[in-house]
Amino acid sequence: MALTFKCDKCGAEIITKFLKLGEEAKCRSCGAMVKVPAKATGTEEAPDWIRRRDVPTQPEKEEVLVGYVPCPKCGSTNLHKIKWTFWGGVLGPSIFNHVKCNDCGMKFNGTTGKSNTGPIILYMIIGFILLFIILALCNR
Ligand SMILES: [Zn+2]
Ligand SMILES: [Zn+2]
Repeated sequence: MALTFKCDKCGAEIITKFLKLGEEAKCRSCGAMVKVPAKATGTEEAPDWIRRRDVPTQPEKEEVLVGYVPCPKCGSTNLHKIKWTFWGGVLGPSIFNHVKCNDCGMKFNGTTGKSNTGPIILYMIIGFILLFIILALCNR
């Protein structure tokens, strides 16, 4: 809350954020030192036009997954695509059509409806082998 009152000398409006009753404020208009009067009224800190308008943020549009099988565990079609995983980065999940069921949390291959655990392990092993081959070639 800020206090607002009128300058004794020139009548200009003074708004103070920090001063209390009886303390002196400097009038911006004439420079006079004016005591905050008891009749000073509390006011909002910022006028309406300064306050940021609350713009409701639009929720991100859910990606509609077409051509995906329903969840093999609970049958839900409320799925979302996994875009990044620790094991495959961005590439891995897109290769396996890796999706997650929003209802039960099951992760599976969205086109076959099978678990991706096997392929993921294979993918990781191949990844490691390739990494070792690359490292071996570099160290020659
Ligand atoms: Zn004044
Ligand atoms: Zn499910």
